[in-house]
Amino acid sequence: LQSAFGDIDIPSVDIATFVFDSARQHNSFVRGNGPRPLFVGDGDGDNAGESLTLAQMEAFCGELAAGLHRAAGVRRGAVVAVLLPNSVHYLAVVLAATMAGAACALANPAYTPRELHHQLSDSGATHVIATAALYPLVCAAAGLGAHAVREVLVLDRRPPAPDALPARSVFDVLDTAAFPRMVLRTRGECAATMALLLYSSGTTGTPKGVMLSHRNLVANTLQARAASAGSAADAGAGVQLAIVPMFHSFGMTFQCLLAPCRGLSTVVMGRFDMGRFLHLVESRRVTDTVLAPPVINALVKMPAAATTEKYNLGSLQRAIVGGAPLGVSTAAALEALMPHLRILQGYGMTEMSPAISVNPSAARKLGSVGPLLPNIEARVVDDAGRVLAPGETGELCFRGPNVMMGYLGRAEATRETIDQDGFLHTGDIGHIDSDTHVYVTDRKKELIKYNGFQVAPAELEALLLQHPRVRDCAVAGVFDDARQTEVPRAYLVLDPDADGPAVAEEVVAWLNGQVAYFKQLRGGFALLDAIPKSASGKILRRLLH
Ligand code: AMP
Repeated sequence: LQSAFGDIDIPSVDIATFVFDSARQHNSFVRGNGPRPLFVGDGDGDNAGESLTLAQMEAFCGELAAGLHRAAGVRRGAVVAVLLPNSVHYLAVVLAATMAGAACALANPAYTPRELHHQLSDSGATHVIATAALYPLVCAAAGLGAHAVREVLVLDRRPPAPDALPARSVFDVLDTAAFPRMVLRTRGECAATMALLLYSSGTTGTPKGVMLSHRNLVANTLQARAASAGSAADAGAGVQLAIVPMFHSFGMTFQCLLAPCRGLSTVVMGRFDMGRFLHLVESRRVTDTVLAPPVINALVKMPAAATTEKYNLGSLQRAIVGGAPLGVSTAAALEALMPHLRILQGYGMTEMSPAISVNPSAARKLGSVGPLLPNIEARVVDDAGRVLAPGETGELCFRGPNVMMGYLGRAEATRETIDQDGFLHTGDIGHIDSDTHVYVTDRKKELIKYNGFQVAPAELEALLLQHPRVRDCAVAGVFDDARQTEVPRAYLVLDPDADGPAVAEEVVAWLNGQVAYFKQLRGGFALLDAIPKSASGKILRRLLH
């Protein structure tokens, strides 16, 4: 199945050149006196009062890239880990590192030291760009074993008190001298040069480094743009409120890379708070936002006195929602409350950079996650790998310029995910109608999604097996109606002489102490005599519930 959009041209440029050139197309970003900022703070915490116009961002990126090259020794092919909350400077830091020739491994600031250590060692990062407040976490992670980190650069004016790793302020390495900036000009270079390394468990196992090239990201930004073309924002007057984490592919592509391209000025929220979100929609006349489904659910459940009656939310025209399924009735309920708002469901996967389909405002289909974006071909296959007829339900597979380069250092996992014809197997179950609209109806892969965040059962199972009282275990997602999200639940086989429930409580608390908040066993536990397994020893997750 081919996308119904005509194919679009994908320019052969690096992502920094792409972002700057795209923003320059919008007069409002370049006007002499008082251009609109590309990124502006929400007036809270670290983001208070900060803003970056296009000219300021280009200057900052150039100076930081030169500093990374000269003062910090970052060279082409290096990996720089970025451990930052959403910030006005987030995209600028990423672009600067790529201009110095590096790829950025984006990390979640909520990680525990163990989780961060896994990412630092797996990615081979030599530098970490973090906030001073996160510096102790980086040092704690580095203390857990092998890594290649030489230095931490903090996005604060003052470096932190030195701990296990050398630290400097980003602002102390800025350098105005010329340096050999990496510029990509050919299709081959753009496709072969990694820009981002994002962690995802894919269809099985523990988190792996998803290598996204410059071409992947430029392509996906333009593919996603095709679905939003023609809206008022594209005239260069829209305002986006950014709350989805920028370390996640959804936040990076839709909020960071796409906004300058669409002429959206982005208000950055460092941390989410619903009251503040609504206040900002009103005070900044926000037109666009990107949300995960639980936020829509929370908005629907709140009393009108705290939402539409308290704030004038009339400016908000579009919310792109993705990362997890959204109920049709939930979307309809919010649109009933806010009649000027269009909720546009999209679907993606980190390994697809991430967008696969997005509903355009003009031609939405309820229950669908939108039509295939330009340059994407789809195939739906059955368990034996046979290609099914249009409309039939099976595993969704996609091919296009946004399919990842592969998993870092995992040739076999890459081969299992991208088939010989170049189609990426998503592990999602669904069908595609005659208009190329995609419907995601189930998930074949192990992945659990808590509020849009990935939880890899294999990671939690490996940890649980380390507990002395756990003989065997499995982890699977259960849907929590109150939270409107999947939550992980542990299925435990304990020592026969253990006091079951009491020990299980202890095991759950022990596990929760070692993982980021979104991986905690909010679904509790169930005690079993044996974990159902296939003859080959694979956990039969469908039999767990
Ligand atoms: P991630 O790589 O973290 O973006 O997770 C990708 C996975 O999230 C997909 O393979 C789906 O299982 C799920 N997902 C993303 N968007 C949607 C959606 N709109 N509806 C249903 N599932 C989704």
